[in-house]
Amino acid sequence: HLEINRLTKSFHGNRVLDRIDIALEKGTFLSLLGPSGCGKTTTMRMVAGFESQDEGTISIGGQSIDSFPPYKRNIGMVFQSYALFPHMTVAQNVAYGLEQQRMSRGDIRKEVANALEMVQLTGYEQRKPKQLSGGQQQRVALARALVTKPSLLLLDESLSALDKNLRSAMQIELRMIQKEIGITTIFVTHDQEEAMTLSDRIAVMRAGRIEQIGSPHEIYEQPANTFVAGFVGQSN
Ligand code: ATP
Repeated sequence: HLEINRLTKSFHGNRVLDRIDIALEKGTFLSLLGPSGCGKTTTMRMVAGFESQDEGTISIGGQSIDSFPPYKRNIGMVFQSYALFPHMTVAQNVAYGLEQQRMSRGDIRKEVANALEMVQLTGYEQRKPKQLSGGQQQRVALARALVTKPSLLLLDESLSALDKNLRSAMQIELRMIQKEIGITTIFVTHDQEEAMTLSDRIAVMRAGRIEQIGSPHEIYEQPANTFVAGFVGQSN
């Protein structure tokens, strides 16, 4: 469903992504795991269309998206740097993407209600983001990302701001929603435990390359090299 071939990028002559290959079947939850600076966020920004690659191709459902601007890629995103609009209500935040699509008011209301129900925030429509807990804000961000029924979901360290208990609860909820709607998902994290629990597949990155890609079990039981073994073996 998602195919990334030989994705390569340099900043000022410094190669930060080196021939990244990722192929995912529809509905797969992939975690990108690796130390700070290994290229996880750059990979996501390229898939989202915020950054263009020097070489390589990205396609979704067999169609190349390389020439599409971000808003035409049909991708839902929850990025830390892409916060809720503080001056808008919950309902307005979630409705935003649908308004860009010029959907009718009645349909927008219906879709917003469905999305808020999915994240269990029915009744919070008129609140402003600052009147919500961190976990509730995350759920609004997820509803906003999913309301347009994207074909791919990108989550960049989106749970890292939450405290430990809330984070585990959100992991379970996120995974349930993701499975239920069967959306292909890429999740960026430093946290190997989080990656192990959530993922169908894990890509372990180092210095712009994928060292190994496989199921959590494969990565843990048959690490390709000492770097992977050390990285997934350590407890954060
Ligand atoms: P972290 O876990 O710390 O977020 P990361 O794995 O997401 O790290 P990236 O943010 O993708 O890493 O960065 C990869 C490398 O590219 C880093 O060395 C970073 O300094 C560099 N880099 C990223 N964006 C730019 C940019 N716009 N200009 C120059 N260098 C950049």
